[in-house]
Amino acid sequence: MQRPIYLDNHATTTMDRRVLEAMLPYFCESFGNAASTSHLYGWEAEAAVSSAREVLATAIAAEPEEIVFTSGATEANNLAIKGVAEAYLTKGRHIITMQTEHNAVLDPCAYLESMGFEVTYLPVQTNGLINVTELEQAIRADTVLVSVMAANNEIGVLQPIAQIGQICHDRNVLFHTDAAQAIGKIQLDVQAMHIDLLSITAHKIYGPKGIGGLYVRRKNPRVKLAPQLHGGGHERGMRSGTLYVPQIVGFAKAVALALESQASEQARLQELRDRLWQRLSQLEGVYLNGDATQRLAGNLNISVADVDGQALIVALQKNLAISTGAACSSVKNEPSHVLTALGRSKKLAQASLRFGIGRFNTVAEIDRAADLTIAAIASLQKVNC
Ligand SMILES: *Cc1c(COP(=O)(O)O)cnc(C)c1O
Repeated sequence: MQRPIYLDNHATTTMDRRVLEAMLPYFCESFGNAASTSHLYGWEAEAAVSSAREVLATAIAAEPEEIVFTSGATEANNLAIKGVAEAYLTKGRHIITMQTEHNAVLDPCAYLESMGFEVTYLPVQTNGLINVTELEQAIRADTVLVSVMAANNEIGVLQPIAQIGQICHDRNVLFHTDAAQAIGKIQLDVQAMHIDLLSITAHKIYGPKGIGGLYVRRKNPRVKLAPQLHGGGHERGMRSGTLYVPQIVGFAKAVALALESQASEQARLQELRDRLWQRLSQLEGVYLNGDATQRLAGNLNISVADVDGQALIVALQKNLAISTGAACSSVKNEPSHVLTALGRSKKLAQASLRFGIGRFNTVAEIDRAADLTIAAIASLQKVNC
């Protein structure tokens, strides 16, 4: 039986075979502990980690020592937000973020609220973009951190992070951005964009799951972080635990591959996305979620009137691997908090489809996805009228 066409590349991606090849020697041959300094096995592991750190740092215009390896973007976000909150208690207890953030930002913020911190959750405009003036007005003397994601995982919108970074820099507030969906897809420069903390992960860009990182600025200003994992003092004391060398090697390989062809690949993805939207936009009652141009090339998110969202997914899942909203909210089967923040009704938020087009999708797959989606929508809309 044929497997469904995979169009859920915002949830995760297949590993690129070249990434797997790069990782293999570090399981059973160069398997050493990167912190072992007394023998070849340790030196080999350390050399591999060092060169990976350099690749990742260069990708965002940082220094290698500013990269802290974590288990993924969830942990990086937790470390950034809770780590700053705890380390800057004397400055204040106020944090600013946005309603459309990933749960890996919203939930640490909610936790901090339960511990007596104050969090402002800024709304977004109907196109999903933040109002920068509102953000600036929300900054107070006791604000310690602004956290605004670079690219949204559901609707793909790209927030004006350079502008936000400049404001935070001028107002002396630390700026964190969750760049899990952005790395390897759009330009990221922590210097030019005045970013103090930046979360990344490997598995959204054809790397392995379970590895990510946090960029932590070392000067102008030097960011202090309270560690969330205590132990052997790895990663400048910010994240203890023996480094997962094969995953780190795979992470760097994935980023290097993405950067190598970033411009041409993003152009190709955009063509595929536009091709799909061109077909779907002709249907009655199909709406685009999120800004039409300020978005990731491979993202298309639509709401469909007069259909049941769950029925739509069920109708398609034999042939198409797509989702309604984020993988985490589909578990809960609640309307997406991102779509409701755009002002979509509960019904339209629930009847949404997220297409995440990726490296291994072809024109033929996109055409077939369009055919299948159009047929499914037509048959369900007929049932409902
Ligand atoms: C996937 C994702 C995360 C979580 O990353 P993990 O590495 O799976 O923990 C966080 N933020 C965004 C925007 C994501 O897309």
